[in-house]
Amino acid sequence: MVNSVVIVGGGTAGWMTATYLRATFGDRLPVTLVESADVPTVGVGEATFSTVRHFFDYLGLAEHEWMPSCNASYKLAIRFENWRGTGEHFYHPFERLRVADGFSLADWWLKSGGRDGRRFDEACYVLPALCEAKRSPKHFDGELFERSLHDGGDRLRRTTMSQQDTQFPYAYHFDAARLATFLADFGTRRGVRRVLDDVVEVRQDDRGWISHLVTREHGEIRGDLFIDCTGFRGLLLNKTLGEDFVSFQDVLPNDRAVALRVPTDVEREGMAPYTTASARDSGWIWTIPLFGRIGTGYVYSSQFCSPEEAEKELRSFVGPRAEGLEANHIRMRIGRNRRSWVKNCVAVGLSSGFVEPLESTGIFFIQHGIEQLVKHFPGEDWDPALVDAYNDRVACCLEGVREFLTLHYRAAARADTPYWKAAKERALPEGMAERLRGWEARLPDGGGVYPYYHGFDPYSYAVMLLGLGHHPARVHPALELLDGAEAERQFADVRRQSERLVAELPAQHAYLARLQG
Ligand code: FAD
Repeated sequence: MVNSVVIVGGGTAGWMTATYLRATFGDRLPVTLVESADVPTVGVGEATFSTVRHFFDYLGLAEHEWMPSCNASYKLAIRFENWRGTGEHFYHPFERLRVADGFSLADWWLKSGGRDGRRFDEACYVLPALCEAKRSPKHFDGELFERSLHDGGDRLRRTTMSQQDTQFPYAYHFDAARLATFLADFGTRRGVRRVLDDVVEVRQDDRGWISHLVTREHGEIRGDLFIDCTGFRGLLLNKTLGEDFVSFQDVLPNDRAVALRVPTDVEREGMAPYTTASARDSGWIWTIPLFGRIGTGYVYSSQFCSPEEAEKELRSFVGPRAEGLEANHIRMRIGRNRRSWVKNCVAVGLSSGFVEPLESTGIFFIQHGIEQLVKHFPGEDWDPALVDAYNDRVACCLEGVREFLTLHYRAAARADTPYWKAAKERALPEGMAERLRGWEARLPDGGGVYPYYHGFDPYSYAVMLLGLGHHPARVHPALELLDGAEAERQFADVRRQSERLVAELPAQHAYLARLQG
């Protein structure tokens, strides 16, 4: 039986895990977290995926309680710049495609041949307009913008409504270091035992299971279940238990990043409610607006660019405001452990796996890992079937994102530098070419290009492929036999709702300033 849990690592992964377990099991399961005062956290990780709302709800934390402490802002979408051509952009929003007569608006948009030059995302979604206008997704009274959609007399399809119940229309940007500090305070007040010390040795019993940790100043720390949240170091799972790491670099070659923290005046400049991913010669640059500063960084492949060149490129992208700012250079371990759970040790966070930050999935992986851990929590017998099932879930999740990110590079309409040329020539993950052919031929497979990510919903794939200019060879023949009136009505709804919401919703910086008090 698991009577106590010991977590090593006090970054985002460590504290999210500690607070989640505490919220789940309370006093019935003591949780100890050991974190080094000297080994730094990775220091980045500011944009999230929309399911993160469930995490804060689970802890019982309302936005006004945590967002101001973490300089948090809203994220409605990712804006992709220059992936299709210089000066071009499109949004990947947290919004499901509406359905007309059983076919998505994406299908109807293709049938219309591009709806008079309106981009796919602006024709089919409301959120791109809110992004362009830098709007908050909430009214000043805290109500989500959907209120306007319901009250305003615009009919919204039931299909869209039920999907929105599970998919929040926004995520957050936040200062990851501040979030870890906030959760550390929250967790210790709720009973997590915090030990500020270095783990200098990890001891195993006769079976090879972890029996205890040896710390520099606090002696031995014993537990039943050990959680490795030591980041790319993988102190417990890799270094102690020797688990193999499966690299994804054959398909995702970016292995380094350089980041800057750029102070901003939110009142003067406003705040974009989206993450920007700008394609560059040897990778891409993220721009993440927080309350009071921008997080930015160049993700690149060391095969094509040196750290000095990358830093120079990032500084020139940021402009004069980059002067005097200290750059954080990071090596990334891209891939996953063959198994994230071995014996009595589970790795969560960067120690489990990571696939570069292009779709902001790092914190999503943490949340997925701990939710699955609770679902697969071991009993007295440590049933190997539970462990195997957990490892399958985690591997599938990471593999799905691996394929989704590979798609970004393969479908991008760029082949103008050695980096982008190589992206077109690299082998695809197994089965992906066939799935892409199926998408292009509009085969009714009932699911996405890759079924393990986003459930069986193809919306992210459609957004990325259409956004990158990768159109299928034909539209669904059935559309020729439908009159299209319902689709026309919905396109008109999108346009009308977008205009109204832009007029009604407050600017995001104004909303957040009020939240900050
Ligand atoms: P770390 O932050 O590295 O923490 C490791 C912890 O282990 C530290 O507290 C350290 O002190 C402790 N430790 C290590 N050794 C010892 C020891 N011997 N004894 C005691 N303690 C020890 N995710 C997103 O969701 N969105 C993003 O936009 C995003 N951007 C990213 C950009 C880059 C360039 C990178 C590399 C990652 C990004 N991520 C992003 C991922 C995100 O940063 C991580 O998932 C998240 O911060 C969790 O990190 P961690 O806690 O696993 O590891």
